[in-house]
Amino acid sequence: MSDRRGFLRNSGLAAAAGAAGVMLGGSGCATAAGPAVATGRMAALPKARGPRLVVVGGGTSGLTIAKYAKKEFPQFDVVLVEKRDMYSSCFTSNLWYAGLVTLENLANHSFLDAAVNNKYVYFNATVTGLDRAGKTLVTSEGDIKYDYLVIAPGISYDYGKIGVNDIDTQTTLRQVYPGGFVSTTEHVTLHRKIREFEGGVFVQTVPSGNYRCLPAPYERACLIASLIKHNKIKGKVVILDANPEVTIKAEGFHAAFDQLYKGILEYHPNAAVKGVDPAKRTIETDFDSVQFADAAIYPNVRGSTLIEQLGLLAPATKSNQFEANIDTRFYNIVGDTSVYVTGDSRPHPYSKSANTSNTEAHYVARVLAARAQGKEISWTTPETICYSVVNAFPMEAISVKAHYVYDAGKDAITGFSPDTQVFNNRDAAKGKATLEWAKGLYRDMFNA
Ligand SMILES: Cc1cc2nc3c(=O)[nH]c(=O)nc-3n(C[C@H](O)[C@H](O)[C@H](O)COP(=O)(O)OP(=O)(O)OC[C@H]3O[C@@H](n4cnc5c(N)ncnc54)[C@H](O)[C@@H]3O)c2cc1C
Repeated sequence: MSDRRGFLRNSGLAAAAGAAGVMLGGSGCATAAGPAVATGRMAALPKARGPRLVVVGGGTSGLTIAKYAKKEFPQFDVVLVEKRDMYSSCFTSNLWYAGLVTLENLANHSFLDAAVNNKYVYFNATVTGLDRAGKTLVTSEGDIKYDYLVIAPGISYDYGKIGVNDIDTQTTLRQVYPGGFVSTTEHVTLHRKIREFEGGVFVQTVPSGNYRCLPAPYERACLIASLIKHNKIKGKVVILDANPEVTIKAEGFHAAFDQLYKGILEYHPNAAVKGVDPAKRTIETDFDSVQFADAAIYPNVRGSTLIEQLGLLAPATKSNQFEANIDTRFYNIVGDTSVYVTGDSRPHPYSKSANTSNTEAHYVARVLAARAQGKEISWTTPETICYSVVNAFPMEAISVKAHYVYDAGKDAITGFSPDTQVFNNRDAAKGKATLEWAKGLYRDMFNA
């Protein structure tokens, strides 16, 4: 187990926190368009039988809040608005590429069952606007009045930050070399590519900033290398990392790179992508031009474009990744205690991961229940537990468990708490624990 200081240095938190004060160029940061007005066409929903809590986004955060807000305060009339009609998880999708879980493991979870089990309504619609003065959410299926609104729409990609500004190239990258960090259709494409890979260089890029799931691009690179080794393919994985060092669990990942994948996996630090030519299949970095046979190009991450569309962006001094302008401890939009933003669209320097979103959501459910009863509760840290499978044959993993420190003087999250632990020694027990962890999360989101 490495010491906590090493963990902090390698975690990416310091970089993310430091970058939070930097002004970001580009459009839309502080000049979000005004929110769309309500249409007057009401959504086909039963009449509210209590204070209506509308939760936008049926991912880790939204599903957990919908369930636990109702448990904490049964008088809530909860509606979960989700644009997908079928759930599939991002977490553990890397394992599918290596055949360690099936697609059914990721997707065999029903929004309908979650809603029935936990006494709320699942409403399949896309949110398009917000009228905060009229407390009305605008969706593709009509307007919804709310007393409390939680918006948990996840992340979007920011291709501009890897030097790809023209829409044609962005579109090609999205479709042909997807990052695989947002949607299921990206996972299906990546699964096919990895399975069909016949040789040459497979590039996995790692962006700068506070990107979704710090260890996941390294985990994916290890699992692709594991397949290359197992299937005796004449090829290698090249990791182009924008960061100076592996951003988390560095010791455990380097051990896997060196001990399991010598000659099969190359790690290039300080290799920020500055441009991509999809036709020539080349990636430009500051120092190099890398030719690839295939690639998963993970661009920088930003708060979901929905946050910007709804006019809820934080000032650039608080977020340089287009995240939401929320109270550090209570998640409500600054100056508005009826609207909250949670999950990966938050500006906090937390790990953008499922366990963080899930434990944060338990706490936000309690905040909402308390406030609906005119009370306040004190801040509780989320918990980041994250397993990374570094070997597929046999299945072995490393892991981390972290909490965070809130500094009242600065009104900011300033680092990891002293009880943070990194488990860099890979073993089969942690491989097994990875699957158990995911099962527990599904149970917590979907079961009664
Ligand atoms: C490859 C990969 C591996 C990962 N591995 C791990 C791991 O090992 N451990 C870990 O802890 N985390 C892992 N994660 C990260 C984890 O999956 C996310 O951080 C977490 O799920 C974020 O939850 P969220 O609710 O904020 O966002 P999401 O789960 O993305 O949910 C957002 C939801 O909002 C919906 N939505 C968006 N816009 C609208 C709209 N306009 N109207 C209606 N609905 C909308 C979306 O459809 C989506 O369902 C991994 C992620 C990936 C991609």
